[in-house]
Amino acid sequence: MKTLLLLPGDGIGPEVCAEVRGIVTALINRAGLELKIEERPFGGASYDDYGTPLTVEAMTLAKRVDAVLMGAVGGPKWAGVGRDVRPEAGLLQLRQEMEVFANLRPAICFDALADASSLRREVVAGLDIMIVRELCGGVYFGQPRGIETLADGQRRGFDTQVYTTSEIERIARVAFELARTRDNRVTSAEKSNVMESGLLWREVVTDLHKRDYSDVKLEHMLADNCSMQLVRNPKQFDVIVTDNLFGDLLSDQASMATGSIGLLPSAALGEAGKPGLYEPIHGSAPDIAGQGVANPIAAILSFEMALRWSLGRADLADRLYAAVESALNQGARTRDIGGTLTTAQMGEAVLAAL
Ligand code: NAD
Repeated sequence: MKTLLLLPGDGIGPEVCAEVRGIVTALINRAGLELKIEERPFGGASYDDYGTPLTVEAMTLAKRVDAVLMGAVGGPKWAGVGRDVRPEAGLLQLRQEMEVFANLRPAICFDALADASSLRREVVAGLDIMIVRELCGGVYFGQPRGIETLADGQRRGFDTQVYTTSEIERIARVAFELARTRDNRVTSAEKSNVMESGLLWREVVTDLHKRDYSDVKLEHMLADNCSMQLVRNPKQFDVIVTDNLFGDLLSDQASMATGSIGLLPSAALGEAGKPGLYEPIHGSAPDIAGQGVANPIAAILSFEMALRWSLGRADLADRLYAAVESALNQGARTRDIGGTLTTAQMGEAVLAAL
């Protein structure tokens, strides 16, 4: 029996997670899914109850289950609380302690929504790319970092971009393995023309490819060109692997080809056998929280990724994905994608299709 830890969080988090619960229950009752669900408060909700965004008990549990699915955290209610106990601090702690270094962000354009993209239909229809972003290293974590005052009174801010061979190799391995299950192509994006860490990145990816993955087609691309190509012709890509900083930018850019932020799931994975962390890429959306209008598809597809990557049920993941596509094809639309369905009605539409 596998276990899923649900961390609904704040704002629209609990609203979209309620729809995930409905789908999990249906899969347990009607499709033979063997899954135990645990649930804990997280983020602001946990702060309100326990004075911390992530209790030691919840953190310990997160490392012990098979998968963690979170809604979203944060909101104006907690804007004034101490930096170390802010809801977002709990999220960073969760990612770090779970050591989920590989962030998988699919950018898929459902045919029914191709006109919702800011790019032309023919550029995005059929788009199916996967961005693999390194999540635990690079310039967001490198030391030294800080803001110092110079002798002449000016201030100087600095960060360090740093990667080791093992960090590069483990993320590249994830990308190559993933490519083998898709169109077998990897584009590695860095700035080896101007950055030493980029040069090492290219060398390590090239070596690993030669050694273990020569059957996969590998292309190197400078990250700035990759950014341009994502707008010019996104369908040229299959899997893109890149560092933390470039991945942050490129994945947000790619997501816009697909329509609403309410559609986009993500998975963060660690070493094989360790639990994965699944979350919609959107936040707690305080502007619409409590209105019942949030799109639950990003959360539902995050559970779809959990079925595929942590719960060993790719068959059910395929069915759930097809159900989302079918509901959209039948015209199910929440407000963010031009319709009037409530969160619960969208959940019901997916459930009916399932
Ligand atoms: P947001 O993603 O919450 O909202 C941005 C816009 O997208 C809003 O207009 C919102 O209404 C809309 N939106 C988001 N999800 C939607 C959905 N499922 N359906 C329909 N519309 C949706 O980003 P924000 O407003 O910048 O941040 C709000 C709070 O969320 C902040 O406290 C921020 O720190 C937090 N945040 C948390 C996460 C996370 O938990 N992973 C991620 C991003 C932001």
